[in-house]
Amino acid sequence: GARLATLPREAATHCPYCALQCGMVLRDTATAIEVAPRQFPTNRGGLCQKGWTAAELLDHPDRLTTPLLRDRSDAELRPASWDEALDRVATGLHAVRDRYGPDAVAVFGGGGLTNEKAYALGKFARVALRTRHIDYNGRWCMSSAAAAGLRAFGVDRGLPFPLADLGRADTLLLVGANPAETMPPLLRHLADQRARGGRLIVVDPRLTATARQADRHLQPLPGTDLAVANALLHIALTEGWLDRAYVTDRTTGFDEVRRTVAEYWPAEVERLSGVPVADLEATARDLATVDRAVILTARGAEQHTKGVDTVTAFINLALALGLPGRPGSGYGCLTGQGNGQGGREHGQKADQLPGYRRIDDPTARAHVAGVWGVDPADLPGPGVPAYALLDALGTADGARALLVFGSNPVVSAPRAARVESRLRDLDLLVVADFLRSETAELADVVLPVAQWAEEDGTMTNLEGRVLRRRALREPPPGVRTDLDVLAALAERLAAPGDFPTDPGAVFAELRRASAGGPADYAGISWERIDADTGVFWPCPDPAGPDTPRLFADRFPTEDGRARFRAVRHRPAAEPVCAEYPLHFTTGRVLAQYQSGAQTRRVDALRRAAPEGFVELHPDLAGRLGVAEGDQVRVVSRRGELRAPARLSPTIRPDTVFAPFHWPGAARANSVTNDAVDPVSGMPEFKICAVRVEKPCG
Ligand code: SF4
Repeated sequence: GARLATLPREAATHCPYCALQCGMVLRDTATAIEVAPRQFPTNRGGLCQKGWTAAELLDHPDRLTTPLLRDRSDAELRPASWDEALDRVATGLHAVRDRYGPDAVAVFGGGGLTNEKAYALGKFARVALRTRHIDYNGRWCMSSAAAAGLRAFGVDRGLPFPLADLGRADTLLLVGANPAETMPPLLRHLADQRARGGRLIVVDPRLTATARQADRHLQPLPGTDLAVANALLHIALTEGWLDRAYVTDRTTGFDEVRRTVAEYWPAEVERLSGVPVADLEATARDLATVDRAVILTARGAEQHTKGVDTVTAFINLALALGLPGRPGSGYGCLTGQGNGQGGREHGQKADQLPGYRRIDDPTARAHVAGVWGVDPADLPGPGVPAYALLDALGTADGARALLVFGSNPVVSAPRAARVESRLRDLDLLVVADFLRSETAELADVVLPVAQWAEEDGTMTNLEGRVLRRRALREPPPGVRTDLDVLAALAERLAAPGDFPTDPGAVFAELRRASAGGPADYAGISWERIDADTGVFWPCPDPAGPDTPRLFADRFPTEDGRARFRAVRHRPAAEPVCAEYPLHFTTGRVLAQYQSGAQTRRVDALRRAAPEGFVELHPDLAGRLGVAEGDQVRVVSRRGELRAPARLSPTIRPDTVFAPFHWPGAARANSVTNDAVDPVSGMPEFKICAVRVEKPCG
C-alpha cells in the first residue's frame, strides 16, 4: 500500500549521453523505469535511440554493485568490501607518493561527469593529492575549438548563442559535423532553417547522413579544411564582401590575415583539397551576402595536429564577415560529450581552476585557494594534456598511480595499444565506473559508482546552458556516488579542506570558486535553473540576468576586440606513402556513444550497430579484391584493426573510415596517430596513413 501510494515516481531530467542534453522524464512504474522525451529548447520533444534506451543500464546484469580488487598483478579481480577497497587505494597512493612524490599520482576525468563531480575531482587532485597531473577525456573532444575560441574571443563557450538561432540562419555552414547521427534532435533546428528558406552547407570527406540533407556538400581531402577556410576568405575579400566597419571597430590583427589568405588561390586549394572552385565561390557568396550566417565546426575540423589553426581559419572568416555578436549569426562549436563544456570549466583540465580560470594566474590561485581553505603556494601548477599524461605513465617522467573517473581510455585514446600497455605498467590503477569497462578490466581496484538517474547535479550543455540533472532513485545497495568516493579517500589521505558528499553543497562551493572567472556561476542556483529552462553563464549576480548571447557589444579580451590570427595550411603529421597509401579517418554511428562501454550493452543499440566496420569506396574495394562483408585489415605504423568491409560510394576513394566505439580487433584507435596539436594537445584522430589488406583465408 505504501509503495503504491508513492508510485509512479518521476524525475524531469536530461539524457546521460551527448552535449545536446535532451530533456527527458524518467518514470519508475514499479516494474520498469520508463523514458519519455520532454519539451526542452534543445530537443523540442525529441530523443535519439540512445536517449530512449538510456534507462536500460540502470538495472543491467553487468552493473557493478560491489568493489573489485586484484590481489596480485596476475590474479583475477575479486569482490571486496568498500573498506577493503578504499584502504587498498589509500595505501597504494601513500606508497607511491612516499617513494616518488605527489606528481607520481595522476587523475583522469571525463566529459560526462556533472559539474559538481568535475569540480570535486579537480579539488581532490590539487588539495588531497597535491598533484599537478589531472586531465580528462574532453581533451580529445573539443580542446582545439576551446583553445581557438579563447585565442580569438577571450572566452570558450561552445555556442555563444542559443541553439534556436540556427533555425534563423539564412546560411549555415557545418564543418566536420554530423549531427544527423551524433545528435539527431538538433535536426529540428535545421528543419526550421530549411522551412524559412535557409541554406545548409556541409563540409565533410564523407557524404554523411547530414551531408545528404545539405544544399551543398563540399568533400575535401581529410586535413585540408584550413585551406578551404582560407580560400573562402580569399574569395570574400576579392569580391569586396569584407565587413569593414566591423573589422575596424571590433577586431585586431586583420592585415596579416589579409596578406596570408591572399596566397590561397581557389584553384590551388581545389588542387589540394579536391573542392571545386565553383563550390568555394558559391559557399563564400552564400555566407557573405545574406543577413544571418552561422559557421559551426566539430571534431572533423578539430581533431588534427592543426586543429586549433583550422578552427581559427573559420573564426577569421566569421570575423571578416562581421558575424560574431550579430543576432542570428556567428561562429560556434558543437561540443560532443554530455558535460564537455562544464567539464572543462571547473578544474579537471590540467591548466585550469574553477570558473575557467588559468591555474598559472596568481589572482586566480589566491581566489580558489581561499575558497578551498588552503595556502595558494600549496596548489600545484599546470599539468600536461591527456595524451602526454597517459603516454608517460609508468615511465621515469610519469605517474605511477592513476585514478580514472568516467572514462575508458583503453578504447578511446589514440594509439590505444600503447596506452593500454602504459596502464598495465602502473603500480596502482583505480577505476570508478558502473560497468566493467575495458579500462576497468586492467584495474587493481574498481569502485562501483552511481548512474545518472541516481544522483542530483548540474550539466552545462553545448550552448553554455546550465541544466539540472535530477535523481529518480537512490543508488542500489553496494554502490556509492563519485562524491562519496572522493570524500572517503580524502579522509583516508588526511586531506585538508572539506569534501562534501551532497551535490548541492558542492554546487554552492563551485559558485563561490567560479565567482569573477570567465565561466562565472555565482548567480546560478538550482532553484533558478528549475524556474526556467536552465541558466546561461556567465551569470555573476543572483538578481541579475544570465547571458544567452555573448559578444553583442564587446569581446571579453583586454581591449574588448576579437583577435584575428593568420594561419597556414600544413600537411597531416603522417603523410601517405607507398607503404601506407590511404588516409584513415574515424567517427561515430547513431546507435553507439563514445567508447561504447555503455551503449554496446543496450540490446536495441547493439542490434542496430552490432559491430565495427571499415567503410571504403567500391573502386578501392575493387582494386583490393574486397567484397561487401569481407574481413579487412587496416594497418598503420602503430597497429591494425580487423572488421568487415562496408562498401560505400559516398566516401572518397583515397580515404577509409572506421567508427571508434568497439574494443578488441575492431578498435579503431589501435590505428590512429598520437601526434598532437601543439596548442591544445588534441591528438590527430581524424587522419593518418594506412594500408588496407584482405587477410588470406
Ligand atoms: Fe541523448 Fe544526445 Fe541522443 Fe539527445 S541527441 S537523446 S542528448 S544522445
